[in-house]
Amino acid sequence: MEFFIYDRLMIQLTDTPVHVLHVDGHDVFVKRDDLLHPAFSGNKARKFAYFLEQDFPSIDTLVGYGSPQANSLYSMSALAKLKGWQLQFYVDHIASHLLNNPLGNYRAALQNGAKIIDLSQCLDRGQHDCADYIEQCVLPGRDELLFIPEGGRCHYAEPGVRQLAREIIAWKQAEQLSQLTVFLPSGTGTTALFLQKSFTELDDSIQVMTCSAVGGDDYLKLQWRMLASDESMFPQILSPNKRYHFGKLYPEFFQVWQKLKQAGMEFELLYDPLGWLVLLHFLANKPMAKVLYVHQGGILGNESMLPRYRRKYGG
Ligand SMILES: *Cc1c(COP(=O)(O)O)cnc(C)c1O
Repeated sequence: MEFFIYDRLMIQLTDTPVHVLHVDGHDVFVKRDDLLHPAFSGNKARKFAYFLEQDFPSIDTLVGYGSPQANSLYSMSALAKLKGWQLQFYVDHIASHLLNNPLGNYRAALQNGAKIIDLSQCLDRGQHDCADYIEQCVLPGRDELLFIPEGGRCHYAEPGVRQLAREIIAWKQAEQLSQLTVFLPSGTGTTALFLQKSFTELDDSIQVMTCSAVGGDDYLKLQWRMLASDESMFPQILSPNKRYHFGKLYPEFFQVWQKLKQAGMEFELLYDPLGWLVLLHFLANKPMAKVLYVHQGGILGNESMLPRYRRKYGG
């Protein structure tokens, strides 16, 4: 076990438990990475573990960008706080209702001291999007800044995800399973890719399956090609029955979320509902498959997503 001691706070960043969830007549194993640590959990903690473990003596500021509601915003704010850095997080725009009534990841990141910069208010913005702006106007000549690409899509994510793979392999051996499917919904696909790569190298009786929550299947493959050239290491993609748009509300998403909650586990509302719809469809055709779902955290985001769902569908 690895521990990090910071400010009399002991943080364990490995060895989360596996629980069984009984849903639609299936027993699905769930790797509880949501329980990693209250301040730093889910797949962002795995992807950012490298930054927590290494020393960066010349760095005093972390730089990132994305949505003001992103799970990665909160996780980066937690990372910065643990390291004694400032976080500068660039967003395209902040909706006025969020500004006036901070909630969820946005609120928690502010509480961690994050500086959230609205690019639409930056006079020197020109035609730049956040990524260009950071690359051309923020980073040059500033060695004290450490930049993490959106959603942690970078090679530094690999060691932390490999640790997750090792834990899954050890669990599978203890359970004496001969085969295992590991399922998780993807955004950038970084977690799924590095999991599959680790299993290919360490235990090839484990297969990773995923679905694309943010773009289509081609978008996901494009993301993977930016991180790996060997397509034999790509996870298998399961496609949903219809096209869902990221961040939009769907009644079937809320239904499956409620069903899981009644079965005893809370998931987040951006990636997990699609993940479970796709997985339950897969299990309907392959009821004997042994599946481990990776709970990737993000529950804090429900603080803003749940009221939206309740307003729209009641419940
Ligand atoms: C960020 C995130 C994802 C997507 O992870 P990728 O590695 O970008 O695919 C999935 N689920 C949750 C809860 C997340 O916070």
